[in-house]
Amino acid sequence: MRKIFLAIAFLTLLSAQSVAAADYPTKIITIIVPFAAGGPTDTVARLLCVPMAKTLNTQLIVENVGGAGGTIGANRVAKSAPDGYTLFLHHIGHSTALALYRKLPYDPINDFEPIGLINEVPMTLVARKDFPPNDLKELIAYVKANKAKVNLANAGLGAASHLCGTLFMSAIETDLTTIPYSGTGPAMNDLLGGQVDFMCDQTTNTTSQIKAGKIKVYGVTTKKRLSSLSYIPTMDEAGLKGFEVSVWHALYAPKGTPKPVIDKLVAGLQVALKDSMVKERFADLGTEPVSEDRATPEALRKHLKAEIEKWGPILKKAGVYAD
Ligand code: ASP
Repeated sequence: MRKIFLAIAFLTLLSAQSVAAADYPTKIITIIVPFAAGGPTDTVARLLCVPMAKTLNTQLIVENVGGAGGTIGANRVAKSAPDGYTLFLHHIGHSTALALYRKLPYDPINDFEPIGLINEVPMTLVARKDFPPNDLKELIAYVKANKAKVNLANAGLGAASHLCGTLFMSAIETDLTTIPYSGTGPAMNDLLGGQVDFMCDQTTNTTSQIKAGKIKVYGVTTKKRLSSLSYIPTMDEAGLKGFEVSVWHALYAPKGTPKPVIDKLVAGLQVALKDSMVKERFADLGTEPVSEDRATPEALRKHLKAEIEKWGPILKKAGVYAD
């Protein structure tokens, strides 16, 4: 009797879930961005909300849950209801957290349903306007000679700015004081105000300040120069051979989100990535949407796994981690 009762309860739950999935969405969807408002990850999320809202026929809002290099926001999503109303937009940091945090309170693979990749974006090494060095060679010499007073901003252990800054310090074999922020939005404000010296950040956050001449720039972190900022040398050309970091963003849902809901979100993402406003804004900011075949759960699952395998040994070797 008990078994029959349990089976009926289970079937009722399943059919309630599939009705809910068929109707989805019936209310506002929240995208958790694990960094402060006004930064590059936030920018990508807010740009996607508009076209996704049209396809999904509901409003999408961004909630910024910054801190600890993106891991506080990730943990919130890992523990959220898998109903499609809480999503997660994160970057490369989702693949480096495992190697950086000894006690990560969530599993970056098994606690999330991948929806799809969004874009790949270069980083730039930038400084406050009145920072003395004028090119990468001068920067390296200056930083080495003044290491006790120079500081490097980042968005916390696990952030892309932290990863790029760590690779920079290790390439020039110099440890610097780092200043963590809850995102590079506020870090950029302090760079503009001259309170911090320099940082690495995505072009989605640095392009307009570079173009306006409000900050100095020493190099881009991709193999090739950018068409939007073609006068800036690559870090490799400017003297740091092989220096390369490319930040990718992706969209996830909590583990257990029903497949029909994920399918609708994948369709919404794919339409958004073809939207002309998104494409234009991305191009202005030195990035472009991924192709449709990469904006899929399978492609993201594969990419995340490959990135975890790539960065794990590099970060372990660098000996950077938090308890
Ligand atoms: N660009 C930041 C990082 O360094 C994150 C952000 O504020 O979007 O990871």
